[in-house]
Amino acid sequence: MMTPDWIANARLPAATLDPPPPGPVDAEGLVLADLKLDAGRIAAIAPPGTAPAEGTLDLDGGQAWPCFVDLHTHLDKGQIWPRAANPEGTLDRAREATRADTIAHWSAEDVAARFEFGLRAAFAHGTAAIRTHVDAGVPGQAAITLGVFRDLRDRWAGRVTVQAATLQLLELYDGEAGERLADLVAESGAILGGLTRRTGPDFDAAAMDARLDRLFALAAARGLDLDLHVDENGDPESRTLAQVARAALRSRFRGRVTCGHCCSLAVQPEDVAAETIALVRDAGLHIVSLPMINLYLQGRIPGGTPRWRGVTLLRELRAAGVPVALASDNCRDPFYAFGDLDALEVFRESVRIGHLEAEIGAWPTAVGRIPAGVMGLPDRGVIRVGAPADLLLFRGRSMSELLSRPQSDRIVLRGGRRSDATPPDHRELDALRGIRGDA
Ligand SMILES: [Zn+2]
Repeated sequence: MMTPDWIANARLPAATLDPPPPGPVDAEGLVLADLKLDAGRIAAIAPPGTAPAEGTLDLDGGQAWPCFVDLHTHLDKGQIWPRAANPEGTLDRAREATRADTIAHWSAEDVAARFEFGLRAAFAHGTAAIRTHVDAGVPGQAAITLGVFRDLRDRWAGRVTVQAATLQLLELYDGEAGERLADLVAESGAILGGLTRRTGPDFDAAAMDARLDRLFALAAARGLDLDLHVDENGDPESRTLAQVARAALRSRFRGRVTCGHCCSLAVQPEDVAAETIALVRDAGLHIVSLPMINLYLQGRIPGGTPRWRGVTLLRELRAAGVPVALASDNCRDPFYAFGDLDALEVFRESVRIGHLEAEIGAWPTAVGRIPAGVMGLPDRGVIRVGAPADLLLFRGRSMSELLSRPQSDRIVLRGGRRSDATPPDHRELDALRGIRGDA
């Protein structure tokens, strides 16, 4: 059935329903319902048993989720692993390998082919909106990559909403060059980004504060949101998350501020972490955690086994009222050798890594409603009458069933119509320069 009129006996995450369900919600936050679809939209959310026999796709208790929102990816870096491997698996080595690959290979054609490969994978797995960071550290690269972004964003409109944020050290916003980059970001309809972390014993916190003030001013002057990579390390003294929160409060910033990673929060003394979490909440920051990449890059010991998971304080942040998203981050590049932009994999691994099952009913919003709010997409991540019938239909009934298998047989509905998209074959990338060792 390509375009069912009804989806029957679906278990819906209650946290994705707007308004909340009137009926009983089970211990995993799921509610059984029938969904009426009409003209590509959700037309009714009805008690089970409402759907007629004809024209109905019966899920037999399987879950139905809104299509995913993936808030933090790196589509410009994706798929370069064959020519930029990182056998040591460290963050420093990943940065070096990526920089060398950027200088050697990142023409518009190269970036576009890999960027679109990522979009096709995400689309096939059921993602409706995605934000990518674009590396802006190598001179001239931001203009090339943002050009690719604008083109692909426009060509993919209606299938996947694509947003981009720049990624570079804050010192690169100093002076005229910083103004020019901020202008380019504004002209591209993108988001201002950057990297904050303690860089060693000679780290100058006051200089970081000044640079954050400049960054917030550059964003405010252009009406831009901010999306930063923050404290992606296991150094308890790396406390720039609190600095970002204070900068947001100082500037009375009106845009949305998202902080990714925030790994070091997890290795700080309890009182220090609690104080930072309260600041983050008061400043209205959004946190996005990238658990699969943290597990990969953090805690590397030469020849040894990692001793910590690398993820931020997911449960404590959520409990304090901070909006927390979970996202993909890197795919098949020096920062992560694996990955396919499947937000269900991200969700599944995050639950296991972060012990999220105790509050499992709240967490589907981390790959839906919460990132949709950050991206300014009120119709995404929700199951609501009038919203697009962009739905993921799973065989898994309980969370244990859902998260025990990859759900590769999921049905993706786009505008009420069953999608036949499949993830692209990795062999398609063989034609890119250097991927098969022929650079
Ligand atoms: Zn990232």
